[in-house]
Amino acid sequence: MIKFTDLELDPRVLKAVEDAGYEKPTPIQAQAIPFALQGRDVLGIAQTGTGKTASFTLPMITMLGKGRARARMPRSLVLAPTRELAAQVAENFEIYAKHTKLTMALLIGGVSFKDQDRLIDRGVDVLIATPGRLLDHFERGKLMLTGVQIMVVDEADRMLDMGFIPDIERIFKLTPFTRQTLFFSATMAPEITRITQEFLHNPERVEVARQATTSETIIQAACVFKPSRKDRTAKEKRELLRALITGEGKTLTNAIVFCNRKVDVDIVAKSLKKHGLNAAPIHGDLDQSVRTRTLTGFRDGEIMFLIASDVAARGLDIPNVSHIFNYDVPIHSEDYVHRIGRTGRAGREGRAITLCSTAEEKYLSAIEDLVKQPIPRIDPPNAARHADKKPPRRAKTAEPAAPVTAVETVEETAAPEQAAPAAEKPRRQSEKLREPAQNKQAAGKPSQDKRTRDKRKPQQKNGKNAVVGMGDHVPAFLQRSL
Ligand code: AMP
Repeated sequence: MIKFTDLELDPRVLKAVEDAGYEKPTPIQAQAIPFALQGRDVLGIAQTGTGKTASFTLPMITMLGKGRARARMPRSLVLAPTRELAAQVAENFEIYAKHTKLTMALLIGGVSFKDQDRLIDRGVDVLIATPGRLLDHFERGKLMLTGVQIMVVDEADRMLDMGFIPDIERIFKLTPFTRQTLFFSATMAPEITRITQEFLHNPERVEVARQATTSETIIQAACVFKPSRKDRTAKEKRELLRALITGEGKTLTNAIVFCNRKVDVDIVAKSLKKHGLNAAPIHGDLDQSVRTRTLTGFRDGEIMFLIASDVAARGLDIPNVSHIFNYDVPIHSEDYVHRIGRTGRAGREGRAITLCSTAEEKYLSAIEDLVKQPIPRIDPPNAARHADKKPPRRAKTAEPAAPVTAVETVEETAAPEQAAPAAEKPRRQSEKLREPAQNKQAAGKPSQDKRTRDKRKPQQKNGKNAVVGMGDHVPAFLQRSL
């Protein structure tokens, strides 16, 4: 068994690794680190969750330990497809380089150019950037890439999906031919192969998992769903999602819900919130500060449901996600592998449930072909079974103990004044699933909904049913004997 101490890493790096509590290198680390330390180009085929970030960060820190940063000329460059991923690499870098004096700058959109310029002017050892922002800085004449000795391209397949390949080619050409390149991709599409052939020099190929393997610790299921009427599809799908969430009970500690479209990310997040679940959306159209806040909230356990698009969530390292829900079946089968790879990490058990409309079954079969295993079908929980069933009638559903999914009778995205009265709202969800604010509300001041409901009910006194009609008073004419 290979140990970190066998890998000829800088002792300061070894200390940081020990501090992080890692016992042994992961397979990608054990394979890639020795080649990287030899100065070889590496082509790493690995998914997130395999420890690939450390597989390039640890040797980089070791190699950069010798030498000094020069103004405006970073000595190494890490390119990541999204701001979140770039920020995550930067976080990792900070952890592993904490016993060294190496300097780092993170160039991502949504952060002021001025602060970033100041760092670059002073000189940095490691520059971590998204391609667009890096080129913006370069074009403003603030940055020279001719000092780059090590260049890392992380998540190259996602770069391809996002149309960044021309930017990457351009950046490669701006760096010295003699640089060392560490290139990582979860899959090897033909365009990725072409890039590696053009820009990597005799790379060592290291691969840790087949392109389409899903972790054995993830329990998968698909719930095929047929709306009662076409025009009710969206609403019933949201009901089904809530029913599936409720059905998971206490095993669900937090979850990422993936949607194919950004617009659905917003709608689903809004809908879950409206039903008392602690949910927040994350997608590319949101302001960077909002995205960062949301992600931190989810990591810290303040947000329980992260509703996400593929691009925003790809590669995010969030340990301890108990559940993944695919609100839509991903059209690209590989996205399924990436999505569900957010759970079941580091040997923990995870659960991945996919909602599948009958029209989406063809995508589900393509996924099964890719992962080479059937995905067990589960029935919609009782309350959410709409096919062959009339929609529930609003007036008859005031039963407060009705399960969460059975009682939605108004369009939940409608304006508040059109919303269902409180008695028809979900009431059975565990308190844990509720937003903190609502818990407070439950304990203290009655909500607006409650006040509205109280007006519709007979008054209550001391917890007893209030008297309706004449009460204790018996009129004299009734007491007269006949
Ligand atoms: P990555 O694939 O780089 O996103 O890493 C996934 C997770 O694995 C991160 O939370 C790392 O902190 C963690 N990790 C990386 N290397 C090791 C290791 N050798 N032992 C245990 N955990 C690790």
